[in-house]
Amino acid sequence: MAVWRNVHACSVYRGMVGGCELGVEIRVDVYSSSHMIRILGTIFAGLMGLAFGSFLNVCLSRWPAGESVVKPRSHCRNCDHSLAWWENVPLVSWVMLRGRCRKCGTAIGWRYPLVELAVGVLWALSFWNLSENLLQPGFVSIFQYNILIFILFQAVLYWILVALSVLDAEHLWLPDAITFPGIALGLVATLYRFVLPWNFHSSQNPPSINWQEVQRHLLFSYAIHRLLAMLAAAALILLIRWIYKLVRKREGMGLGDAKLMAMLAAWLGLPGALLAFGLGAILGSVVALVLLLVPAARRGSETWAGSKLPFGTFLCAGGIVSSLWGQSMIAAYLRWAGF
Ligand SMILES: [Zn+2]
Repeated sequence: MAVWRNVHACSVYRGMVGGCELGVEIRVDVYSSSHMIRILGTIFAGLMGLAFGSFLNVCLSRWPAGESVVKPRSHCRNCDHSLAWWENVPLVSWVMLRGRCRKCGTAIGWRYPLVELAVGVLWALSFWNLSENLLQPGFVSIFQYNILIFILFQAVLYWILVALSVLDAEHLWLPDAITFPGIALGLVATLYRFVLPWNFHSSQNPPSINWQEVQRHLLFSYAIHRLLAMLAAAALILLIRWIYKLVRKREGMGLGDAKLMAMLAAWLGLPGALLAFGLGAILGSVVALVLLLVPAARRGSETWAGSKLPFGTFLCAGGIVSSLWGQSMIAAYLRWAGF
């Protein structure tokens, strides 16, 4: 880190007086070294996202069928043809093979490139958004360390949300094996973000106060706050489910939707989860309307026929938007509403 700071300082210096006296001239513009690292980091995060998206595809195809996700190696699900390495490159291979198996010509399906692209773009976006202050000179190193950890947490959240959205779309299934760990991880991520890393024992803080106790108190109140948010979010889904059952006399939303909503509240807080719910409901209504009005769209998505729409998929999409832009959306709404 120190080296990069020097480069940064040097580039600022160069920007001011037009020269750099380090023996080796570093040809960078003003502020560009940290900018460059941010761009390179974003590209790296995107490439990692493509790779993890590719692995997610394997899990999403094999897990619901009860197969192992590690063995055997990647193969066509129709003719068992084992994929060569170049048939297994995220995104590129699908385009090169024009979405068909090289041996038997079976369609590989849009889900594969879409999942890879989604995880890649989301990981790149979260690195880009969170790394703004990462390389500022003078930025305390404990913050930099924590930002990196938080980017990792965020990456896991997006990976989980993409997985759940596909599982619900293809199987109307939101497995507890994902939502429950997702809830626990969301709580840890929240406590990590707001309480755990803060060093209250610094010499600048007055010693008369027991900072350990302050931290413990903060930890406790954040945990309680999020637990209540989770209960409220899940209760909203259960209430809608109950009303729907009373009126239509059949199941509308599943219990999985309630657990997913609790998971969103654990990660995003109650306002973020409610925003995700609103966005999901709007998206779901639009899709339902299109399926109702356009018969051709209905034929293209037989799994969604019979009016059983995967609300979890829309909720995940809402959760992704809410986590990326929720803060500014809620702030804009509050401004508009005159708060
Ligand atoms: Zn094949």
